[in-house]
Amino acid sequence: MNNRSSSVFTSALVMILAAAGGSLGCSTYAPPTAKFAAPPPSASTWDEVFAHPSDATVETLTTGEVEVSRSLLLDLEDRATAGMKDDSVSVPVLAHLIRHPSKGDLLVDTGLDHTFTTSGHGNVGGLASLFSFCRQAPGQDIASQLRARGAAPKSVLYTHLHVDHTAGTPDLDQGARFIAGKGSLKDAYLDESGVVMHLSHLDGVKELSELDFAGVRPMLPLGPSIDVLGDGSVWAVWTPGHSIGHVSYVVNAKSGPVLLTGDASHTRWGFEHDVEPGKVTDRAGARRSLGELRAFVRAYPAVRVVYGHELSKAAPGGATPVSAQLSRGAGEGT
Ligand SMILES: [Zn+2]
Repeated sequence: MNNRSSSVFTSALVMILAAAGGSLGCSTYAPPTAKFAAPPPSASTWDEVFAHPSDATVETLTTGEVEVSRSLLLDLEDRATAGMKDDSVSVPVLAHLIRHPSKGDLLVDTGLDHTFTTSGHGNVGGLASLFSFCRQAPGQDIASQLRARGAAPKSVLYTHLHVDHTAGTPDLDQGARFIAGKGSLKDAYLDESGVVMHLSHLDGVKELSELDFAGVRPMLPLGPSIDVLGDGSVWAVWTPGHSIGHVSYVVNAKSGPVLLTGDASHTRWGFEHDVEPGKVTDRAGARRSLGELRAFVRAYPAVRVVYGHELSKAAPGGATPVSAQLSRGAGEGT
């Protein structure tokens, strides 16, 4: 796709997403919800948590790539982005496999299922299927990568329910426990008619377990945080703003703590330059969430940060890291 057609396409897709986002309400199908039964927390400060690393490991899986407009990733009104154009950027679609020796496998976000190998819109129906916006190599789909590792997640934790985070769900064990922040379904691009964007990703999910942070104590400098397994290994952190009910995760892993920001920060560039995502449901909330995550990393510099749509290491095949693509635009022009 050349630059012009890709930005035309991106604008069209943004219009579709905006239209879908503007007509939320009932969806084609939304699973019933129940409150996540949080176990008693094993610690009340991050110092206590990190004093006892768990035996869990975490691995980030790239399940394909999606073309998005830069103004979705970054608030282009922010002065730090001066000179950036609102062009199209290709970003990885990630899922994170947590392997816990006694509690089994967990997945954070689901990436893309196998349908994206042969189609640029995969399992996204409605008018959106007129567009090609994803790429996936054979074997890159979430199920193939889990199979290759002998992994079978019994819990699926979503950062939020936007399409690029739910699209792998149909290929997962539908008997797993599906967990997301309270209110996430209200911000899931599910439109009433299914005409603009028909999503069937959650059709097999019998119940969505909602993380309710009301009354949960903040774990400073982060906000309210839930000890998902009750042993200090996996924490859900309330980071709304990009979407309603957005959740980031901290894994107290064997190799050191890992912060999975989700789309509270899509990119390293945004995180390091203190620029929140362009696409938000609550800008003040998005700024507050990003500020808390940045303060957390300043307080605990050993934390490895994994951004919502950027690999920490260079992608195989020498693909240009997302932040390098972004920084090329900064400072150019006016
Ligand atoms: Zn995303």
